[in-house]
This record gives sequence, structure tokens and C-alpha cells, in this order.
Amino acid sequence: MLPQSGKHGVKLKKVRISGVGEVKLERSSRARHICLTVRPFAGVRIAVPRGVSYRSAEQVARAKLPWLKKQLAKAASMERMALELEKTHPIDSRNARKLLVVRLQELSRKYGFAYNRVFIRNQKTRWGSCSANNNISLNLQLIRLPAELMDYVIFHELVHTRIKNHSQAFWEQLNQLVGEAKALDRKLNEYPLLQPADRAREAD
Ligand SMILES: [Zn+2]
Repeated sequence: MLPQSGKHGVKLKKVRISGVGEVKLERSSRARHICLTVRPFAGVRIAVPRGVSYRSAEQVARAKLPWLKKQLAKAASMERMALELEKTHPIDSRNARKLLVVRLQELSRKYGFAYNRVFIRNQKTRWGSCSANNNISLNLQLIRLPAELMDYVIFHELVHTRIKNHSQAFWEQLNQLVGEAKALDRKLNEYPLLQPADRAREAD
């Protein structure tokens, strides 16, 4: 297949690997190694560092065929669960919005945080975010998470109102609020964003 050209030259190439299906190869200036990820609703992505050819990245993927198949089966079962959940327990978005806003207000008051505006969205790629001017966005799907993880995301964004990066100072402050922040972050990673869209999980 032909590589797609982006503003800065070739950025993305799609190939088909038999037994796996479509695989996205993406040029990444941040990746240090060839990195394979499999995510529900998003499929297989390979981050290709600078100086590494798409061809050799593809070879690495082919060499990991059994691993890829296993991950894809896991992702497929998560997709089925997500779609089933959406059908049997659709989110009541008015109530969900109210609940998230109230929880954000509670926690920010209790711990002395100040934010600007709050947006509750059905975001496709993130659990939450905090803008440069301290507007907080929370994902409607947070309502589906265990309470401690929902609070974790809210605290995470509240700490971003003071510290805009993921420095050690950031994690230390977050630890004071939630205990083991990084452990909670790992737990959060086990939950796919429960909606059928092309996305990657991130809590930024
Ligand atoms: Zn963050």
C-alpha cells in the first residue's frame, strides 16, 4: 500500500499482515524503539523511530505474530464487552454530567484547588484534560469506572491546574491526595474508553 504523505513527508503507512489484518505504521520522533500497541477499537499500531525503515518495523511485527494474535483476541473481547455494556446500561448523560461536576466541585473545594471552567464530554481519546488556562474536561465515560479511579482522574486534572507537566513534583502532589498515583494510573490503563471509536487511552 502507498504511504500517506503528511505535512512533514511520509508519516503513516498501512500494511496488511495475514492473521492480524490492518497494521498502522507510524513514524514517531519520540519513540526510541519499534513499539507495538494493540488497543480495542483502534487495532494494531507500530511506532517507528527515526532511522528505522517501515520494512524492518513490519518484520518485527511479523516476528511477533503469536503475541499480536493474543492481544487482538483480548482487544476483541473488550470491544464486545464495551458494546454490550453500552446496550444494556446506556449512560444517562444528564445525571452523569451532574454527578461529575458535583464531584469535581467537592474535591476542588475540599483540597483548595481553583479551576476555570468545566466541560463534560464524550471524548474519544482521553479520560480528562486540563488546558493552559485551567479549563478542565472530563470524559462522560468516567461514570463507568470504579469510584477510586474516577476520583483519581479528577485529582489528576486538579493537580494539573498547579503543575502542567508530569514531573516528579506532579506525582508527589498527586500521591498526597490519592496514595499510590502511579498504581492507580496503571489500573486506569486496564479500562478501555467504552465507546466504539478510534482512540488511545490517555489521562493528560
Ligand atoms: Zn496528566
